Amino acid sequence: MSADPSSRATGETPSRSAASAPRTVPSPKSRDSDANPVEVRRSTRRRRTVSAYREGDRTVVLIPARMSEAEEQRWVRVMLEKLAAQESKRMLGDAELAARAEWLSEQYLGGRARPASVRWVTNQNTRWGSCTPAEGSIRLSHRLQGMPEYVVDYVLLHELAHLLVPGHGPRFWRLLEAYPRTERARGYLEGVVAAGRLPHLSGPGDDQP
Ligand SMILES: [Zn+2]
Repeated sequence: MSADPSSRATGETPSRSAASAPRTVPSPKSRDSDANPVEVRRSTRRRRTVSAYREGDRTVVLIPARMSEAEEQRWVRVMLEKLAAQESKRMLGDAELAARAEWLSEQYLGGRARPASVRWVTNQNTRWGSCTPAEGSIRLSHRLQGMPEYVVDYVLLHELAHLLVPGHGPRFWRLLEAYPRTERARGYLEGVVAAGRLPHLSGPGDDQP
């Protein structure tokens, strides 16, 4: 496996003939984790291996130049599944999540936000994250699993900031400005909501990072 810390997956493939130019294909719409665009790149140097990795909010799949359309589609599906599985496995550890929170707090909030607990929950379908400042507890929706890391980081940082400032006033957003991908992450989540994958509810007590 690669030492690259970014998501990456590889697979073996039989070779067949057919060729076409690199292009971007829309990914299947059935899974949250596939919400980002997929770019298929064909390489004549590549003989039998397929690999895939995340590049920003897109997924790049590298395949042999001679692969057929049907094989390409099959391998794109396989590689998306592999990447999503790796990412959710990587994100599932609550200890890792706590470490991530500590790092984000250090990096962007001067270490002032110190949550007592950070964990994934599966009963949060209308919110990406929530927190209880009195307890110092933060909960993230499992629906974030498989989304790009910068999106998960943003939601985590958003909840960390709520430990310092309740509500969404100017003081709150000033804290978030330190994180360079706030706007991009919000756009990503808005896109997911707009696509109808998550009902957008707001009201007292609801938090929409
Ligand atoms: Zn909020």
